[in-house]
Amino acid sequence: MDLGKTILLTLILGLIILFSIIPTCFSAKNKSDKALQNLTPNVPQEPWMQSTIPEGGSIYSILEKSGIPLPEIARFSYQFGNYIDVTTLQPGDTLRVIFDPDSQKITKAMFTQEPTIRHHFKTESDTLRYEKELLPVSLQTRIINGELNNTLDSTLLALGLHPYEKQQINNGLEGDINFQTDARNGDKFSILIEERIFEGKRMPRAKILYVSYEGSRTGFHELFRYEEEEGAVVNGLYNKEGKARSTSGVGYPLGYIHVSSTFGRWVNPISGRWEFHTGYDYRASYGTPVYSVANGVVTVSSYNGGWGNEIRIKHPSGMVTQYAHLSTLGVRTGHAVKKGQVIGRIGSTGYSTGPHLHFGLMQGGQWISPANLRMVGAEKLSSAQMEKFKLMQDKIRQQLEQAPA
Ligand SMILES: [Zn+2]
Repeated sequence: MDLGKTILLTLILGLIILFSIIPTCFSAKNKSDKALQNLTPNVPQEPWMQSTIPEGGSIYSILEKSGIPLPEIARFSYQFGNYIDVTTLQPGDTLRVIFDPDSQKITKAMFTQEPTIRHHFKTESDTLRYEKELLPVSLQTRIINGELNNTLDSTLLALGLHPYEKQQINNGLEGDINFQTDARNGDKFSILIEERIFEGKRMPRAKILYVSYEGSRTGFHELFRYEEEEGAVVNGLYNKEGKARSTSGVGYPLGYIHVSSTFGRWVNPISGRWEFHTGYDYRASYGTPVYSVANGVVTVSSYNGGWGNEIRIKHPSGMVTQYAHLSTLGVRTGHAVKKGQVIGRIGSTGYSTGPHLHFGLMQGGQWISPANLRMVGAEKLSSAQMEKFKLMQDKIRQQLEQAPA
């Protein structure tokens, strides 16, 4: 073999090797790109559909607008409510979903609230996997001093308070002060507020830690925040002695509240069709005690079709409350019950997709929204709670001295 042939053969062999390597190089590069995408899950690489909750909008209405079939809306919304208390949804919150036309399923979703809380969902088989991501916020306590000008509502809103914050203050003070007769323009109030700051902006739903109010006819009143675990119904404003100022006489049917469905038009999780939901669904684990929200007489305590084990109680005001899907019935028809008495246990009887309480409220023979009922966690804190509350009051007083106005 002469030198020229050897060079030519080496060249050909080299080219063959090179071309067999190139595709491997390209696919290796593709693989590393995919690995990179997996490391950055918050950067959407797939076609997301995004909707923003409008005023008065619901999770059902925005999913329907995306053209997703009703049975899938039913499945997704029901499981969504198990992770997110739907009463915390606010206009402006955004839902992004990936809908797979082959499986007819929402394969991924991200729900962003206010905008620091991101809820990530992923469908695996028929189950929604869930992960919560909290973006770092800084907490800031601040004193707001003000003088009454016209109504308390308008004064608080003019000071830049969010409607939800205004409502906490209002509910707290109304139990003690008759604003109709005793409030006067120029009455003075102070509020200690704990705000979450994100990218220089304050987020809504701040915590009200303290409220004082002083007027010539009202006298001086102080309220302090008592707090247990998140969602505990006792969390709220109390006076120094641990009495809740807002005394509507109505309590909560459970010790911890997580609303998975509200009153009104919904896509029924069982039928997969638009229907009217006549009460609130509260998520709770199997066997959790259920309380009567007020004194009354049991008018129904039996198995009742779709409601499963159902209790209805008639209260002196004429209002009727309903507790459905119970696992056990603890009271009989005709029994008198007291507010806060255990009447049964959480279950999933009747047409039910999982353990929860369906709570209905009837007035004049019509179901009305339980949102109309002002429930109070505790009228008076227990002595064990009072010990914790005294320490909380001391801390709040210190914060009052240190907080900037
Ligand atoms: Zn229900």
